[in-house]
Amino acid sequence: MNGFPLSAILPIVGVLLYALALVFLVSRSALKTAIARGMALCLGLLILSSTLALLAAFELLPEALAGYFPSLFLILIGANLLWLTQAVLQTGRLHWPWILLGVVWLAGWLTLALNPFALPDTLLKGHTWFIARANVASLVLAAGWVIFMARMLFLSIKASRLTTQPLIKNRSHYWVLALLAYIAGDLLLLFYLYDAAYALRLPAILLLTIIILRPYMPDIRQMERRALHYLVMTLLTAIVLLVGLFIAVPLIERARGYNPTLVGAIAALFLAALLPPVRNLSNKIVEHLLPGRKYEPNRVLREYSQSVSSILDPELLATVSVGMISEAIEIQSGCLFLVEFETEDSISRYRLQGTRGMGDIPPDPGFLSLKGPVATYFLKERKPLPHTSLGLDERFQASDPEELAWLNGLAADVYIPIYTKEDWVGLIVLGPKLNGLPYFEDDLDLLGTLADQTAVALQNARLVESLMRLNNDFRRAYAAMEQANRHLKQMNVQLENLDRTKSDFISVASHELRTPLTVMRGYNEMLLEDPAINGNPFHSKLIKGIYSGIMRLHEIVNSMLDMASIDTRSLELKVESVSLNSLIKMVCDGVGDSFRERDLQLEIENLRDLPQVDGDPEALKKVFYHLVINAIKYTPDGGKITITGVTVSPGQMNLADGGVEIIVADSGIGIHQDYLDLIFTKFYQTGELALHSTGKVKFKGAGPGLGLAIARGIVDAHRGKIWAESSGHDEEKCPGSQFHVVLPLHYREQ
Ligand code: ADP
Repeated sequence: MNGFPLSAILPIVGVLLYALALVFLVSRSALKTAIARGMALCLGLLILSSTLALLAAFELLPEALAGYFPSLFLILIGANLLWLTQAVLQTGRLHWPWILLGVVWLAGWLTLALNPFALPDTLLKGHTWFIARANVASLVLAAGWVIFMARMLFLSIKASRLTTQPLIKNRSHYWVLALLAYIAGDLLLLFYLYDAAYALRLPAILLLTIIILRPYMPDIRQMERRALHYLVMTLLTAIVLLVGLFIAVPLIERARGYNPTLVGAIAALFLAALLPPVRNLSNKIVEHLLPGRKYEPNRVLREYSQSVSSILDPELLATVSVGMISEAIEIQSGCLFLVEFETEDSISRYRLQGTRGMGDIPPDPGFLSLKGPVATYFLKERKPLPHTSLGLDERFQASDPEELAWLNGLAADVYIPIYTKEDWVGLIVLGPKLNGLPYFEDDLDLLGTLADQTAVALQNARLVESLMRLNNDFRRAYAAMEQANRHLKQMNVQLENLDRTKSDFISVASHELRTPLTVMRGYNEMLLEDPAINGNPFHSKLIKGIYSGIMRLHEIVNSMLDMASIDTRSLELKVESVSLNSLIKMVCDGVGDSFRERDLQLEIENLRDLPQVDGDPEALKKVFYHLVINAIKYTPDGGKITITGVTVSPGQMNLADGGVEIIVADSGIGIHQDYLDLIFTKFYQTGELALHSTGKVKFKGAGPGLGLAIARGIVDAHRGKIWAESSGHDEEKCPGSQFHVVLPLHYREQ
């Protein structure tokens, strides 16, 4: 071996780069898909073949093997690439005939080249011709290769022509480019130009690896346009310059006497002046050959934002938005979806509600689960999603089939999400372009910006919509309230009628009862004084019993009369200065027997120091009479009743001139908090009805339920206040109750 063979350089580079590509492929894809595994096999074969080439360069390989291995790998890699092409460009499954053909190809070539069956070197021989085994082997190799490569190219070109999916189209463009480079390399290999073949094959294979790893390749048409533009520009400029040169040379020759610099400058100026039209012409040619976008992004953006910013109706916004986009980009169909987050049966998802957009009927609503790959993409990536990505990008493979079916049903090419600051609020769904071209990167950029403009308008529209909804709800609630109010008013009228009937009854009944009662009382008093009756203890007891019944009845009728006069507001107060001390003492003395009978202790505090108040002494007596009687009735035997007086200073308790407060407290059964106010309505009782008429001051001996109503009526007539306090009703613990009566110092008529 003399020195480092130059032919070793390319195989070394090959081994290194293929190995690098393999490592990259394994680390990025983890060989999860069949395509990635197929590419890894291809790279493995290439590493092996480059290693063999390296060994051959160092003459470390047996001669026989060195001659055959490139052809062997040609077959293996060729077959592998055909399979890959079908898988990547989704042209359907590999058909059996092709697999069979591959096997026949390999077997045929192996039989002829390695000659395991010891065939003769010359297979057929005529007089003037012969067919050598080695030649047939080369022919089989070349024919098989041509068939496989042709099939591969045919498939790729067909895929790129047939598909309307921009991403597959773009991918197949790249794929064809890489295949062409690879085929050119192999072609050179057939002619034993190894170095040139390696130099072409390497970038081709690396490009194939990248295409497999990256679903989103940069838009090749843009690059093509740029390259074409450059080419056309160079060609046109060259033509102009050459023509200029042809015209200028004889002119300069003729104008010998002139300054050559001046003539050169004039020619240069003339040529420079030709450049702008040349550029225009170049643009037109490129546009004709590779049509690109036809709109002016700034103008579209300006017009769009002016149009949508003032729309407050979501339906109209959708129509204008999709309409303007379709006008600018020339699309077949499009729709705006309003996106709302909802939780149903503890499942969180996005509801995509279609608006009319470009059609008359809005598409069916769709649901994307919060954790699903599609919603996750929109939430995290916040950028447009080409529909083809759903099939190509591994991330979407775990998507719910129902979600994918709904998305496929939209027949969209691209989805453009709309976001407000923190929420995903809408989705513009656009169908294919009318001219069949894919969405270019700058189309997507523009659409992203338009989506941002839509977001503001959409937010405003939604705000107005929810305000209107609120307004409607409010109106409905208001109408319901009015109806309830009317109903309440009717009820009130009915209740008032009922109350009036009750009052009328009390009034009539008490007046009617009073006269016969008075007669009965008179006769009874006469009987009481009759010596014949007095002389007979039995008769005397009976008459006294009747008398006490008549007196109780009298009292009840009086209460009814009081109530009637309060109800009819005919209570007339005879106001004078009253000493509450003596008034209350008089009341207590009147029921002194009851205190003794029930073994109750009475305590009177601070009444003596109280100032005199303006009031009707007879009416006020009734107030304290009812309070004291109640205290006696609802306090168990042996209890205590305390009557306390407090002076109210001017300004306190809404009394400008001040007044007095009397508190009648007992150690009785107390009152439930809920009834503290209700007990002041007439006929209201919390006591047990069974104890009725068991006697005026019996424990829990309930009366007709008028006492407190009369007390309140009288206190109200004095412009005072009366209320009850108690921590609750408990017949065992006896928490007691306190009745407060506040009377103003001075009486003012209304
Ligand atoms: P009644 O004729 O039934 O005593 P009132 O109007 O005087 O009618 O009282 C109404 C209800 O208030 C009574 O039935 C009773 O339940 C309750 N009540 C009144 N005063 C007291 C009190 N001092 N302690 C407990 N309950 C009371």
